[in-house]
Amino acid sequence: MHADHRASRLVRRVLARVATAGVMLALLAGTSAAIAGIAGGSSTRALAAGRKPLAGRIIGIDPGHNGLNWTDPAFLDRRVWNGREWENCDTSGTQTAGGYAEARFTWNVAAYLRADLIRLGARVVLTRTSNHGVGPCVNTRARILDRARANVSIDIHADGGPPGGRGFTILEPVADGPNDRVISSSLRFARDVHVTMLRYTRMLVSDYYGHNGYITRNDLAGLNLTTMPKVLVECGNMRNAADAALLARPAVQRSIAAALTAAIIRFLAGH
Ligand code: ZN
Repeated sequence: MHADHRASRLVRRVLARVATAGVMLALLAGTSAAIAGIAGGSSTRALAAGRKPLAGRIIGIDPGHNGLNWTDPAFLDRRVWNGREWENCDTSGTQTAGGYAEARFTWNVAAYLRADLIRLGARVVLTRTSNHGVGPCVNTRARILDRARANVSIDIHADGGPPGGRGFTILEPVADGPNDRVISSSLRFARDVHVTMLRYTRMLVSDYYGHNGYITRNDLAGLNLTTMPKVLVECGNMRNAADAALLARPAVQRSIAAALTAAIIRFLAGH
C-alpha cells in the first residue's frame, strides 16, 4: 500500500510538470484525469464523456530477455529469421557489476508500465508472463505483439556497454519489407520517448552509443518484423556504476514506466 501511494505520488509529480492550466484542474480530479490532460483535446473530451483516455487502445510491451534464459544456452543458440538475416533466439541479457540482471529490470519496468496503462483503460499485451522462465525467442515476441494488433509497442532493455559510458538510447527500425509502413510513425514515437525519458527520469542521453540518444538498427527481429509503430529503448548502461545504481532502484524503474506511459499518450494523441 505504501508503495502504491509512492507510485501515484510520482505519477502526479511527473504529470504536474507538463500540466497546463486546464490539466491542473484535471490533476485535482485524480491521476487518470491528469494523464489524460497531456493528450489534449480528444482525451479531455473522452474524460468529459466518462471514458478513460486509453480505452479501446492495445499496447504491446516486450520486456527483454527472461530470468532463466541463462539456464538454457541450447535454446538461446537456436537460429531464428529476423526479417533480414538469421540470428540467435535471444541472449541471457546483461547485468550490473553487483549482479542485478537486465531481465529483472525489464520485467519490473514492464509491470509498472502495464499497471499505469491499464489504469488509463488500455488493453496490454506482454511477450512473457513472468521473470522465471526461458524465452520466447525474439521473432516470437514480435509475432505475439503483431497478432495482438497493438496500436503501438515498446521493447524494454538496458545495455551492457563500456563502463565509462552512460545514458539511454532509442533504437529505431529501418525499412526492410514487413515494417515498411511503420517507419515514420516509429521515428515519431522515438522522439516522444526521448522527450519523456529526459523530462520524467534521471537518466541522461547516451554519451557512448548512437547519436543524441538515437540509433537505427536493421539487425533486430523486434524492429525488423514489426507491423505496428515500435522502438526499443536501452534505458541505461548496466555496466556503468552510476547508471547501474539508478536502474536497480524501484523508484527509478517507476519513473521510467511513467515516462513510457507519457510517451505512449503523446504518440497516440498525435503530438
Ligand atoms: Zn537486452
